[in-house]
Order: sequence, then structure tokens, then C-alpha cells
Amino acid sequence: MDTCLGLSVVVPVLNEIASLDELIRRSLRACKDTGRSHELILVDDGSTDGSSEKILAAAEAHRGGVVGVILNRNYGQHAAVMAGFDVSRGRLVVTLDADLQNPPEEIPRLVAKMDAGFDVVGTVRVPRRDTLFRRLASRTVNAAARRSTGVDMHDYGCMLRGYSRAVVDAMLRCRERSTFIPVLANTFAKRTTEIEVRHNNRPGGDSKYSLWRLVNLQFDLLTSMTTAPLRFLSAIGVCLSGAGLALGFLLMGLRLLHGPEWAVQGVFTLFAALFFFVGAQFVAMGLMGEYIGRIYEDVRARPRYFVERIVGLEPGLRESSDLQGCT
Ligand code: UDP
Ligand code: MG
Repeated sequence: MDTCLGLSVVVPVLNEIASLDELIRRSLRACKDTGRSHELILVDDGSTDGSSEKILAAAEAHRGGVVGVILNRNYGQHAAVMAGFDVSRGRLVVTLDADLQNPPEEIPRLVAKMDAGFDVVGTVRVPRRDTLFRRLASRTVNAAARRSTGVDMHDYGCMLRGYSRAVVDAMLRCRERSTFIPVLANTFAKRTTEIEVRHNNRPGGDSKYSLWRLVNLQFDLLTSMTTAPLRFLSAIGVCLSGAGLALGFLLMGLRLLHGPEWAVQGVFTLFAALFFFVGAQFVAMGLMGEYIGRIYEDVRARPRYFVERIVGLEPGLRESSDLQGCT
């Protein structure tokens, strides 16, 4: 991108007509408060309630300030945010939900933290206004994400977050289809921090996540973090085979002690053999899983590393590194 701005705010929108006007007004004001050049990118994720028309009208009314990206159908929140990243030109990028559960007025605080040199600024919702089920689910997910990324964040679910240009560019270069942006960002972040933000009840409309979509999202999150479940197969196999072998030896010993009648004419021995072979099958599946895991890593084509700066390179030998972007 040629022109660069200070700040991009990316908002995915799915049937949020009730809050769009207020969202645009409050977000633009918050951006202005940061005192830097900015753009508000509204990504319509296949709305059917007229949100897209409203976004187009807003882009017309605030030329240069509001950018509308209309997807042709619903692709999911994280895909929509990625589409927004793709057109964003800010040196800092903030994501925000369209439902106003997180107030846009927090944007200047996020920006201030980013200015302090953090690559990713996460947020913790206090008090959290969601059902007990949602809270429990996200607690488990957060713990898993903390373990897998090695970054100690407490609220991966909250999408009001700030990212540096470098991290956004790194995410854009990942080719996987199922993404969970806060986790993906942390795999490329060096300095991260968290701030507390307010969380309100949804002022209008309903949550776009049914139970089924939530389950789907958790699987996206799991597979985006780790291929460890594939390895579980081998672990189960080794345990089963081990149990089969142990049972076999035990039976052999007991049979010698108590005679052939005791072992129900070999039925127990059959069990031991069965355990052993079922276990061996699991081990084989686990081995295949290891290959599938590696294929998966490769097709995701995530950048292996990201160069922050190269110094001492003769001028003219290489013009620029990918990461320079807007700096
Ligand atoms: N969203 C989207 N596409 C979807 C689902 C949600 O763009 O398929 C948007 C939605 O409009 C909102 C944000 O993602 O701006 C978060 O959705 P929601 O508030 O329903 O999620 P919750 O707060 O219940 O987690
Ligand atoms: Mg919400």
C-alpha cells in the first residue's frame, strides 16, 4: 500500500443495523481523539438486514474516513476481520465488534499502549456481561491458548484489540482458512500486554453465535493452536497395547498356577491379544496423524519467521524487506 495512516479500525458486521449509526459516530470520534490520521473499515459479512447499504452510505458520507468492504456472503467473523486487514493501511490496527458491547471510546487507551512499544494489546472484559455457559467455555479456551502460545493473556475472546502493522502483515501471510485471530497474532508477537476494558450488554440485535457455531469456533481455535490431539492417538495406542501385554503375562502366570480351566479355555487370552492389536492400530493411526499434522503445518504456509530489521546490508543489493510496510 502506498499511503499510510496512523490508525485503522476494523469492524466485522453481520446484521447489526441497530447499532451501525451509533458505532460509526462513536468510533470516528474515538479515532479523532487519538489525534492521528485514521480510517474506519467496516466489513459486511453477508448481512441481510440492510447493513451493507448503510455501510456504503457511510463510506460515501465520510469519504476517506470510512471504508466499506462488502463480502458476497457470510464467511465468519475472523475471515471478515482478515478481509479488513487486507485493505487496512494503518501503522496500528485495532479490531472492534460492531455490537457496541465494547465501547469504541477505549480505542485511545489501546493506541497509547501500542505507542509504548507493544505489538499486541489484548483486553480483559470487566465486568463480563455474558451467560455462565459462555464464561465457562471461554475460561477453558483461554487456559488452552495460554499454554499453546506461551503468551499469558486472560481473555482471548474479546475482539477489541490492537495489533502492530508487522503482526497484521504476518497474519495476512498465513494461508490457512480457519483462523482465530487473537491466537494467531500472539504467535507472531514479541511484546504483548493487556488492559481492562468495559463490557456492556448487547444494546440491540442478538449474538451471532449459536451453540453450533460456538462449537465450530472452538475447533477452529484448537486446530489453529496445536496438532496435539493427533498425538493422543499414539498415546492411547501405547497404553492399550501395554495393558494387553501386561494382561497376557498375568494370564500366563495365573494359568500355570491354577490350570487351564481357570482361564475359561483361552477366552481371557483372547482379550489380551485383542487389547494388544487394537492398541497397535491406534499407534498406527497416531503415526499417520503425525504425518497429517506435518502436512497441515505445511499447507497453512505460515511464515517461518519474520524479520524485524536488517542492518549492514549494502545499499542497492536488496531494496527493502517485506516488513517495512509503512515505517
Ligand atoms: N460477526 C460477523 N460474522 C459472523 C458472526 C459475527 O461479522 O459470522 C460479527 C458481528 O456482527 C459482531 C462480531 O462479529 O460485530 C461479534 O459477534 P457477536 O457480538 O455476535 O459475538 P459475541 O459477542 O456473542 O461473542
Ligand atoms: Mg458481541
